[in-house]
Amino acid sequence: MNLNEIMHKMRDMGLNDEASGNASYRTFGGFMVTPTRDISSVEVFCQHGVEPVGPASSEWRMHAAIYTSRQEVGAIIHFHGEPDPDRDTSVADPGDEGTWRLALEVAYSLMETNYCYIPDHGNVWAGDNLKALDALLLTKNRPPAEAEGRS
Ligand SMILES: [Zn+2]
Repeated sequence: MNLNEIMHKMRDMGLNDEASGNASYRTFGGFMVTPTRDISSVEVFCQHGVEPVGPASSEWRMHAAIYTSRQEVGAIIHFHGEPDPDRDTSVADPGDEGTWRLALEVAYSLMETNYCYIPDHGNVWAGDNLKALDALLLTKNRPPAEAEGRS
């Protein structure tokens, strides 16, 4: 399981339009994240505490904040639509996309659970690794909501 595979899975499930949404996994010294609006096989390295050099997802700060606050989290996926009603989902105070404000709100909301919902935007799921998140996606069966133009 790699970023490309899980992004295609989310798209095939109708959770993301084309290249919206993003995913990442922890590596030594940082994490690998999907590029902005692209589900090609490219993975962009983000070093902890440093602005990414490559075309990282515009929401890379969200991933950075979660990996910093939750040392045991090994992978993160972000997709659009409504939260699953049967999961222990926290609700983040929404901020503008791509900002540290939203990143920190999401990280704070994920301190006690692995599922966060950003109102009028989408979901952030944290897990041990991409394989575990992939398995969780299989248990999701809610139709997605419209989220045009999101990244
Ligand atoms: Zn988004």
